[in-house]
Amino acid sequence: MNDDHGSQSAERALARAYDEARGYLRGVCDDPAGVSIPQAEFRKRLGETLPETGEPADAVIAALVEAARGGIVPTAGGRFFGFVTGGSHPAGVAADWLTAAWDDAPGTPMAAPFACAVDGVVADWVLELLDLPRDAGVGVVTGASAGNVVGVAAARHALLEREGWDVEADGLFGAPPITVLIGADAHPTVRLALRLTGFGASRVVEVATDQDGAMRADAFAAALNAAQGPALVCAQAGQVNTGAIDPFAEIAPACRERGAWLHVDGAFGLWGRLVERARPRLEGVELANSWSADSHKFLNTPYDAGFAIVADAGVHVATMSATASYLPQEQGGRDPSHYVPELSRRGRATPIYATLRALGRAGVRDMVQGCCDHAARMRDLVTARDGVSCLNDVILNQAIFRFSAPGGDEAAADRITADVVARVVATGECWLQTAQWRGQTIMRLSVSSRATTQADIERSAAAILAAYDAALADAGALSG
Ligand SMILES: *Cc1c(COP(=O)(O)O)cnc(C)c1O
Repeated sequence: MNDDHGSQSAERALARAYDEARGYLRGVCDDPAGVSIPQAEFRKRLGETLPETGEPADAVIAALVEAARGGIVPTAGGRFFGFVTGGSHPAGVAADWLTAAWDDAPGTPMAAPFACAVDGVVADWVLELLDLPRDAGVGVVTGASAGNVVGVAAARHALLEREGWDVEADGLFGAPPITVLIGADAHPTVRLALRLTGFGASRVVEVATDQDGAMRADAFAAALNAAQGPALVCAQAGQVNTGAIDPFAEIAPACRERGAWLHVDGAFGLWGRLVERARPRLEGVELANSWSADSHKFLNTPYDAGFAIVADAGVHVATMSATASYLPQEQGGRDPSHYVPELSRRGRATPIYATLRALGRAGVRDMVQGCCDHAARMRDLVTARDGVSCLNDVILNQAIFRFSAPGGDEAAADRITADVVARVVATGECWLQTAQWRGQTIMRLSVSSRATTQADIERSAAAILAAYDAALADAGALSG
């Protein structure tokens, strides 16, 4: 057998990776700066051609570490506020290493009874944490994008089955048309899911949203009223810029009554079920038919982790199982492949299990609540300064800001807001980004790493305000 595990080179490779990872994680909180080295440089460092002959494992790991120098964005640190990235809990990282070493793939229960059991435990825990129907189907998928695909595919199955149409067998050509309602500020991955499942990204009724990007209840009621035939409603918990939550108390009962399928993109916002300020807005979300949620954002597990949840587990399995004639009564325990698009995959649930167990229910709640409190604190600190406004209601971990220019000119405010962000990032004090919101340039803040402390928020707020002062001074010098 050609097996080099246990060889000196293998031992050294594993030890090197371990040391590097530990060193990286120890320092990541001190280094929030973004990466300025162009991708082409990394391509060069990595080598342009596939070598004909192999190298010892330890040499490869050493080269990899060298090539990555200056190339890892410290998203797991405490002062990275871009996108909605989340950090990585050490228990999750460590369990991720083990999962790879075990090569444990929950594709079939026979080949991976342990990974399948972990998958089942995580499924139960997630339903409990999110307080969703305990008999719902849960697939541990790569993230909320995949969760959205599974959700709308399940909708397609159930809505057409009711019309006497077997979409798995006969496809969508000639099928009864389904009306799709979607909020105007939905995440692009929901439209991607609609594309992939044959609904079409544009063949939708867009529901008008309020100032924060949540569907307006009156506009929703009118759109649902006007919808012809079977209907799929794609709602959102947690708009990616503002954290806005659609009005589920109105939407969910209306969908029930109408027989419309309600899918919820809850990538990070569904975890608002654990947050005091957000929980009331999420009342009614438990009445939906399917949900998608991330684990690698708010739950701070390593990447490739999210959940596709379908209230009717039978519909979930009928949609996702590769065996068309599948019977939900499983023999030999849970078969995770019946809930996700893939057959073979990594033991994705294992790092999630480790993270949840390390945090406990209270720890998860504190982590999520803490990120939201930090976002509110940042709002308070920076809006205390004249000329800085927060444009959204900060109920979750997202806040958007705008900096005004002398004279109140909106175009100048666009420029100065972009300038403030560029200056802050250049200091390396924290990392934020601009975005366009309602036609204006904004500074976007997302607090989603467990590493963020109050001191990080205070230090970052000071850096932002100093950048604003500098930008104002320069703008004054230019115009004066
Ligand atoms: C991040 C995000 C997604 C996509 O999730 P991935 O985990 O990146 O696949 C979908 N919807 C919202 C609101 C998000 O924030």
